[in-house]
Amino acid sequence: MALADDIPPISPLAMTRQQFVDACAQQGVGSGRAKDAYHKVYKEGITHAQPARITIPEIVNRLDEPTTEGITTKFVQRFPNPNHRLIDKGIDFDDIESVIIPMKGRSGRKTHTLCVSSQVGCAMGCGFCETAQMGLIRSLSAEEIVGQWWAARHIEGVHIDNIVFMGMGEPLDNLDEVFRAIECLTDQSGPGMAMSSITISTVGRVDGLRRIKEQVQTHGWRKLGLALSLNAPNDEIRNALMPVNRKWTMQELQDILLELREVRGGRKIMIEYVLIPGVNNDREHAAQVAEWMRPFMKGQIAAGKQRGHGGLLNVIPYNPRRDSPWPAPTEEQVEEFVGWLMKHGLFVNRRRTKGRSTMSACGQLGTAEIRKRKFVPLTTNQQTDAD
Ligand code: SAH
Repeated sequence: MALADDIPPISPLAMTRQQFVDACAQQGVGSGRAKDAYHKVYKEGITHAQPARITIPEIVNRLDEPTTEGITTKFVQRFPNPNHRLIDKGIDFDDIESVIIPMKGRSGRKTHTLCVSSQVGCAMGCGFCETAQMGLIRSLSAEEIVGQWWAARHIEGVHIDNIVFMGMGEPLDNLDEVFRAIECLTDQSGPGMAMSSITISTVGRVDGLRRIKEQVQTHGWRKLGLALSLNAPNDEIRNALMPVNRKWTMQELQDILLELREVRGGRKIMIEYVLIPGVNNDREHAAQVAEWMRPFMKGQIAAGKQRGHGGLLNVIPYNPRRDSPWPAPTEEQVEEFVGWLMKHGLFVNRRRTKGRSTMSACGQLGTAEIRKRKFVPLTTNQQTDAD
């Protein structure tokens, strides 16, 4: 058997322990040594434990913002850019943003949620979102996604309780890598996240949701969390705000989400609603949202999971993006809209805005510099925009 010191290092980033053991075996390294190295990388935060070696992109910027529940930290990692076409244009790195968000639970226990990016920029073009203004630069690899967890855990030194794919990018536009990252993140010998503590959030790509429906029926995936960014009360407004809706209507979305709920054993799907004054905050809009949500509530009530079980609908006050045509809603506007929704019998959570002044709140990721860069074509062959 070869001595581990003699072989070229292997990166266990985005590998499960078994995958790493197998890769090491091919180099003649025994499983005991491989498991030990894997443990050192993930549990002890060591980047180089022969035969394991990982490269974690440098953190080039960190912004802290105090909130009522603790300090929200946005950190920026700089990744070498593998795309030579862009390098030729003088762009040889990508900045990836992640946010660590503190939350106080009902019991008073403090937890930390890591908001990860799945792409640099985004191709979905939602009118209210900062990231959309950058266009899509590229999709991240599973290694780069897991690297964000590693940096939060072992460089920032924060124990991460939950992961949400709500940073830059549309995870369903990069599903292979997102799945591969989650496989690693949920390895008990590695990051050790519970499947139920990971949530994928989407604009509503129905093709991607169909793939998720298959995936959650495979071993260990059933409890994967899901969130949909609805953001509009009807197709007309949704078409205007979110180009993806011109391809798949709200009815099609509702259908696939109900199918998903079925195969996930009734587990709730978080519906996100960014409240933009003058756009989607009328009394009439609240009624339309409630109507669209009704089939989801039925199951909820039948399962005896009513109030106190957490809301089905998350209302997020709009955080103005740069050069925004709309203001943030006032406190009264938010309260009023939430009140209407509740009158319709909806279970509503009000999401507190965190990190707005450091541009790390929802929909505000995307730095001024990278924003100036140009679009690259979609990485998937499926069309996502209006036909
Ligand atoms: N593409 C995925 C993942 C990004 S999550 C998705 O859209 O779900 C980003 C979340 O922030 C989404 O719910 C989105 O609707 C919301 N968001 C985007 N721009 C926002 C803004 N300016 N203010 C508040 N929330 C915003």
